[in-house]
Amino acid sequence: MERRVFGVETEFGITHQGGEHRGLPPDELARYIFRPVLKWGRSSNVFIPNASRLYLDVGSHPEYATAECDDLLDLIASDRAGELIMHDLAQRAQAAMAEDGFDGSVYLLKNNVDSQGNSYGSHENYMIPRTTHFRRLSTILLPFLVTRQILVGAGRLVPATDETPAHYAFSQRADHMWEGISSATTRSRPIINTRDEPHADAALHRRLHVIVGDSNMSETTSLLRYGATDLVLRMVESGVPVGDFELENPIGAIRHISHDITGTATVKVRNGPEMTAVDIQSGLLDRARRFVRENGAHHAQVEQIFELWERTLQAVASGDHSSIERDIDWAIKKRLLTDVAERGGLRQGHPKLEQLDMAYHDVHPRRGVFNVLAAHGRVSTQLQPERIERAIVDPPSTTRAALRGRFLSTARALGAEHTVDWVHHKLVDRPLDALMLKDPLLADDPRLDTLLAKLGDRVETLREQNLAQRREQAVPLALSERYTLASPREFAEPPLI
Ligand code: ATP
Ligand code: MG
Ligand code: MG
Repeated sequence: MERRVFGVETEFGITHQGGEHRGLPPDELARYIFRPVLKWGRSSNVFIPNASRLYLDVGSHPEYATAECDDLLDLIASDRAGELIMHDLAQRAQAAMAEDGFDGSVYLLKNNVDSQGNSYGSHENYMIPRTTHFRRLSTILLPFLVTRQILVGAGRLVPATDETPAHYAFSQRADHMWEGISSATTRSRPIINTRDEPHADAALHRRLHVIVGDSNMSETTSLLRYGATDLVLRMVESGVPVGDFELENPIGAIRHISHDITGTATVKVRNGPEMTAVDIQSGLLDRARRFVRENGAHHAQVEQIFELWERTLQAVASGDHSSIERDIDWAIKKRLLTDVAERGGLRQGHPKLEQLDMAYHDVHPRRGVFNVLAAHGRVSTQLQPERIERAIVDPPSTTRAALRGRFLSTARALGAEHTVDWVHHKLVDRPLDALMLKDPLLADDPRLDTLLAKLGDRVETLREQNLAQRREQAVPLALSERYTLASPREFAEPPLI
């Protein structure tokens, strides 16, 4: 497969704190957050003009699912845009609540465990050919995913229990996985979810649904996460030998690895030796490098991904994490926690440190600790702020998302009632003309013009309108103010650091 479709779904944690009274419970808070969404789209499950999906499921974890992307930087930009869209909703909720007499602040966290230990996800979607041999896929992909946390985990300060002291783990999600592969997501939480909803031509494609990943704050970590996974999938698809790292007990292994930040924990490979996560990842990295040497690089970031992959493995193997403290989420956060603990003479597991762990994932551009570090130039980034701002409004231009975005903005601008999902586009008044786009890689389709032409003459003018006008007419949730990303000038001192 030359181009691959990617999408990522992020579920956010929400809390309301700090007022005179006790904060609102999450379900009520979620309702406040989704009030503008309901007003805008008359549903708490909407597609917005950047072609992404915004929704509130049962429970109280607002979710943003990026549009289909075939470019890793587009994917990261769309995901980052989601943070800002959600942040804006959180700010509006806070203002609306204050009007109703509930003071305090709304916190929106891009992490995966709340203070009660409940977990919510960051689901990755990869389009793969239907012909991919599933047994081969799982024997290669499972050990990769089980050990991938040492590269791209978001890190977690694990509170003390009766059995174990407080300690720092690679991953947030590792303790919440219960199976290797299955079709259920909530009951059994498998690493790979086989539910067969391709949102594409089912005869040709599958949508691989990976639910084991931690949400990442760092764009660099995200690049490594999606880029390395794509490379491993390419090897699976091509049929080249990838080594035999099938694990005897993937679920035991994922926890064991997560809780050993020294990286020396070993896991048993089926019919093979005990290996560390670094051993397994190094084996896969070697093969991926060979694969690219023989087949060529398929995008511009491949070498960068290899370099990050190798540097992170070296850092884990040596125990000296200083070389990745700007790039890899778990290491960035670990450095911060260590510094704060040393400066304040705080023991591991001190409530202040637990709070800082949470604050790292706060998406607020000027309060969230990761964002503050970024504004001070203390972490690496991959995207110019303008690219993220654009992704708030504009869909990715090289996939079906471009068509969905155009359909949505046009229908909305003309006040035409419509419905969409990942595949379908319908004008309510013309149900028989519904358009089905089964190829997620197709960014242009004359049938869309035909459908939109039914809306009359204004369509052509609209098409030519410039971005500023489109912003006004179709901006998600009718937000007209400009988004501002944190800039270093705005801070006197970063909070908590
Ligand atoms: P749930 O939220 O219940 O898990 P779901 O897995 O169907 O539902 P959505 O929240 O609707 O997921 O998100 C689907 C994700 O899949 C989006 O990020 C979207 O961009 C991506 N996607 C859509 N079509 C494809 C495809 N053909 N291949 C890979 N990814 C796709
Ligand atoms: Mg989803
Ligand atoms: Mg999902």
